[in-house]
Amino acid sequence: MTDQTLPPCPQCGSIYTYEDGALLICPECAHEFSVQAPSEAAERVWRDANGSVLADGDTVTVIKDLKIKGSSSVVKVGTKVKNIRLVEGDHDIDCRIDGIGQMGLKTEFVKKV
Ligand SMILES: [Zn+2]
Repeated sequence: MTDQTLPPCPQCGSIYTYEDGALLICPECAHEFSVQAPSEAAERVWRDANGSVLADGDTVTVIKDLKIKGSSSVVKVGTKVKNIRLVEGDHDIDCRIDGIGQMGLKTEFVKKV
């Protein structure tokens, strides 16, 4: 016996779906659909503070003063950052800021221009 919970029918919302090979079938409306890939396999989407989707090469502005670890420099609110690169990690934007150099930013502290 498995504990696997099958997703409900996307058409009528029935929870009585069952598996038939690679497909799921809804007994109530006869809708057939395929199982969604697990979310971890889905491509990650980076969003800025407003929820806009970010992409490599975008220009963003910093929405709050950010202290830089191990230095006295501060990235001021409103600083424009060009040509960002999205990466995995705690600081999920890799970028180069004039006068400061290469650094990591968090998507939650930037806004797409
Ligand atoms: Zn259905």
